[in-house]
Amino acid sequence: MTSERSARAADSAPIIVAENVQKHFGSFHALRGVSMSVRPGEVVVVIGPSGSGKSTFIRTINALDPHDGGTITVDGIPLQGAKNLDAIRREVGMVFQSFNLFPHLTVLENITLAPTRVRGASRADAEARGLELLRRVGIEEQAHKYPAQLSGGQQQRVAIARALAMEPKIMLFDEPTSALDPEMIKEVLDVMKELARSGMTMLVVTHEMGFAREVADRLLFFDQGTIVEDTTPDEFYEHPKHERAKQFLSKIL
Ligand code: ADP
Ligand code: MG
Repeated sequence: MTSERSARAADSAPIIVAENVQKHFGSFHALRGVSMSVRPGEVVVVIGPSGSGKSTFIRTINALDPHDGGTITVDGIPLQGAKNLDAIRREVGMVFQSFNLFPHLTVLENITLAPTRVRGASRADAEARGLELLRRVGIEEQAHKYPAQLSGGQQQRVAIARALAMEPKIMLFDEPTSALDPEMIKEVLDVMKELARSGMTMLVVTHEMGFAREVADRLLFFDQGTIVEDTTPDEFYEHPKHERAKQFLSKIL
């Protein structure tokens, strides 16, 4: 599966290009020249120590955090200040560690809100599509419940369905299983694997090694605001090159 997708990806121009991206929080230099690219259909896993800039980097890609140096281009659209923000956000779906569902809306309402408000979809169309997405993530029967009535794993699957409802070309995940009890991690990873198999371009911050080795085409290791290894998951886990990567692996393995 992975090699087939890589072969396909190798033929096409990158859909995300970051060049020398910089980000400061006051005097703190959080991203120190991040350069990478992702081709359509690729699944790229991002790992690294806490505080190394993983969240900051993926938040710059859909401009939740503006970068302050270097360039980011998403599907050919340059991300510069406030310009093009809406255009880029239409292309990019994001799933967070904390599911961030609207607590006062039902599951189905959470999913139909943006398509009806932002995309101008009719309620009937948005609901039909919403139910189809809930079926895809395996929780159609929860459509009329409220988030608090669902398990963490179910809530995260709703969050994935909600992002997909906007028909993004790229999905960003920031530690999507880190807040889940162990028995719920697999159900979320299974949904992400299915998404990867369907050809979605994915950038995933996760320490789930099984997922990385089974699904990811590439792995980026962050340390102190830069990418120090850009390789395949197998190569990274079997032959980490940098001392920091070796130390990191010895702690998580
Ligand atoms: P990671 O996701 O790899 O754990 P982050 O990207 O969240 O790391 O953070 C990188 C660094 O930037 C950390 O030192 C963090 O404290 C700092 N940082 C992140 N967000 C902010 C913020 N909004 N204000 C100030 N510092 C921040
Ligand atoms: Mg983080």
